[in-house]
Amino acid sequence: MKLFGTMKINELGHLEIGKCDSTDLVKKYGTPLYVMDETLIRDNCKLFKTNFTSKNIQTEIIYASKAFLTLAMCTLINEEGLSLDVVSGGELYTAIKANFPTHKIYMHGNNKTKEELTMAIKTGIGRIIVDNKCELDLIENICKAYNKKISILLRVNPGIETNTHEYIKTTKNSSKFGISIFDKDIFNIVNKLNSNKYIDFKGFHSHIGSQILNEESFYEEINVMMNFIKEVSEKCGTTIQELNLGGGFGVYYSKKDRPINLKNLLKNMLDKIKSKADEFKLPYPKIMIEPGRSIVANAGTTLYQVGCTKKTHSGKHYVFVDGGMNDNPRTALYNAQYEAAIANRMNDEKEGIYTITGRCCESGDIIAKDISLPHPNIGDIIAVSTTGAYNYSMASNYNRLPRPSVIFVKNGNSKCIVRRETYEDIIKNDLPL
Ligand SMILES: *Cc1c(COP(=O)(O)O)cnc(C)c1O
Repeated sequence: MKLFGTMKINELGHLEIGKCDSTDLVKKYGTPLYVMDETLIRDNCKLFKTNFTSKNIQTEIIYASKAFLTLAMCTLINEEGLSLDVVSGGELYTAIKANFPTHKIYMHGNNKTKEELTMAIKTGIGRIIVDNKCELDLIENICKAYNKKISILLRVNPGIETNTHEYIKTTKNSSKFGISIFDKDIFNIVNKLNSNKYIDFKGFHSHIGSQILNEESFYEEINVMMNFIKEVSEKCGTTIQELNLGGGFGVYYSKKDRPINLKNLLKNMLDKIKSKADEFKLPYPKIMIEPGRSIVANAGTTLYQVGCTKKTHSGKHYVFVDGGMNDNPRTALYNAQYEAAIANRMNDEKEGIYTITGRCCESGDIIAKDISLPHPNIGDIIAVSTTGAYNYSMASNYNRLPRPSVIFVKNGNSKCIVRRETYEDIIKNDLPL
């Protein structure tokens, strides 16, 4: 298992994160447990902040909160000077409750409800990223009703095919997101927006997909979007002030993933914007990016306890742990690959190949496939790395399993930021017949 951030093997042969021994964390908080390396999350924020800058171009880093969001996370993101992207009333509510500066909140979604848009407009968030024409009408009506003006970006689909899982590609021409840049109607939409009393049109947004490990995809996105901005500027006689390029920066989950060097990528992206704008004699738009996974994925580790093990009639070795697809649905959903280790025996010889599975009533309830481990014993602690993104945020109560607790660890201290659900929580919305 690759070690990230502050992860170490201590003198007892135990996995340590944020100078906390994982066996102590398990004693204190129980399992399953999401452990977040606060130092690594902050370092990742700083990496984006310090490397996505340029003398000539204004930039903004917007954390895509759907990867992992809680009240404490909102506070951290604000402390690190990032903005926040939300995609639902629930995410927006969390940000508001955490006192996140509302002008630094961006709202996404391909089917925002009237209630969500009203909440966003009344709160006075920074930008709404508009997905379609029908949403524009809705926004205009709400703004009229409350006598408010809102700044927006239009989400467009630049028609770029990325090399990632089908479910997280977002800019195929058949994708549900945004308006195609090949749709001639787009120029009418921009023209209409330019004379709208209630809507301040700032520019465009595109997001080509997630877990992208090929830097060329981002450069292609920049080329296509800058060409498109040139075309719109000419046809509509308008200056595009902002370009939001979305997120999608891929991370290491297992040996097959070779992440892009982010420092180089971020610098190259801004260089390419500058040279395209210079070539077209366009003013430099403000450039935003929306990293989610790359801020939190490697900072998260899930700790489980081993129950039984089983060798099937066909010879397959299973390790049963006390969590499952309810706390990590990504293996079932995307065929994701994870790395794992026995956290209390990090230096022990590996003895076999095991599939780590949970306790949900599905054969697809797999957490990590074919992992080399020492032979696991009942009570051993299994650590699964890179579970910081899209694990807690996608967790469910399937099989009525309470969702695990989330803790931040840093410099030998641990802090619970989401308490473990109880059986009482499981039935709290149920009503008797
Ligand atoms: C999901 C999403 C992101 C973040 O993607 P990551 O792969 O987590 O970086 C950013 N922008 C939009 C619009 C998204 O839908």
